[in-house]
Amino acid sequence: MKTIMGALALTSVISANAAAQLGEPIYHYEGRMAADVETGFVDLDWRISVLDPDAESVTFLIAPSLQNIEVGGDVAGFETAEQGPFQAVVIALEPSTGSTRTIELGYDGILFPEPPNNEINAVAPDRVELSVDGFWLPIDATFQGYLTADLTVDVGAPWRGVANGTVEPLPTGVRIRNDEASLDIAFTMAPDFRVTEADGFTLYDLRDSDAGTDRLVEAASFCFNYLDPLYGETSPLPEAHFVIHRRSESAYNRRSYITLTDISDTEDEPLTQFLCHELAHHWSMGANFNTVENWLNESFADQAGNMAVRDRFGEDAFIERMNRYRARIEGQDLPPIWVPGATERRPYLVNYRSGPVALWELEVRIGRPRFSEFMRRYMTDPINTTPDLLDMLEDVAGREDRDWFEARLAQTAP
Ligand SMILES: [Zn+2]
Repeated sequence: MKTIMGALALTSVISANAAAQLGEPIYHYEGRMAADVETGFVDLDWRISVLDPDAESVTFLIAPSLQNIEVGGDVAGFETAEQGPFQAVVIALEPSTGSTRTIELGYDGILFPEPPNNEINAVAPDRVELSVDGFWLPIDATFQGYLTADLTVDVGAPWRGVANGTVEPLPTGVRIRNDEASLDIAFTMAPDFRVTEADGFTLYDLRDSDAGTDRLVEAASFCFNYLDPLYGETSPLPEAHFVIHRRSESAYNRRSYITLTDISDTEDEPLTQFLCHELAHHWSMGANFNTVENWLNESFADQAGNMAVRDRFGEDAFIERMNRYRARIEGQDLPPIWVPGATERRPYLVNYRSGPVALWELEVRIGRPRFSEFMRRYMTDPINTTPDLLDMLEDVAGREDRDWFEARLAQTAP
């Protein structure tokens, strides 16, 4: 995820986290959603299986605009409360008898009385696009509520859909099924897409022209051919679905569902970097996105993108790029990338600029063969915390370089 500017922008923070590796779902969501694309009114009914027999209560967050909240099932009681920009539904579960307990949760309303500030989420005549930061589905307040899902979306017309799961067309909507644990259900539906099939991926274009499509296909193909041999030995890149939106900002991904901005004006080099970054999240995604450790998800995906640029466009392009990164953070008042005991998630510039620069310096220090082994181990082990990363680095490069890198992560400026 690269360019979200929204104030909330949770999509950016969870982009890395459809974690097949973290993996264990704690919920299964069965849902039905009816959306009136003319008025923006939505009506949702969920049956949520709580898979953890020890859970005593659950707090779900939904958008404050949603009303008529009804809760049923294996529930001892519930209350709703304001929680920051959200509406919290705090549910006490009936005592466990060992079998799976089920929460029934229904609500409706105009989901977005005001247009959301990040341009992503929409219930509109041209498209329905929803992800976690629309808070249209109940989100576990810990943001660690991995779920599998089976959702039917009815928009009253035979629209097509692309999602972070399989999509089955229905007469007036789609059924989305996701058997792999994810932090949300994310999808785009539209009356139609222009579809381009390529080897390993499919483009779903919402724009009015094909401008840039051939270059996009070329760049994405390059990324598949670059990344898979390096990191795909045990888990190759899945068949990807790219949605090309009309907007100029806000791209994000969920595993094989990758949304792009209008790429017609994007140069080949940033396009390649961007696509490889997004695809590298297939492996670089296991760290807790809501903490300091999110630097792992973003900095490693981003540096994989930068190294892909080096492979495709040469050394000079790479060096120029890394120097631009360095210039961007010089003189900024930024926290260190990571120090022992740190918890708080870092700002964009740290995760997307300081981290890649530190990785570049590490490569210069330990040399390319050992650095590529370090990258490979990070991507495939998988490694989800900085202490584990440092242990692995010691394994690859030795104690001295480990200590150097730990000190480098603690610096506040390059
Ligand atoms: Zn990213």
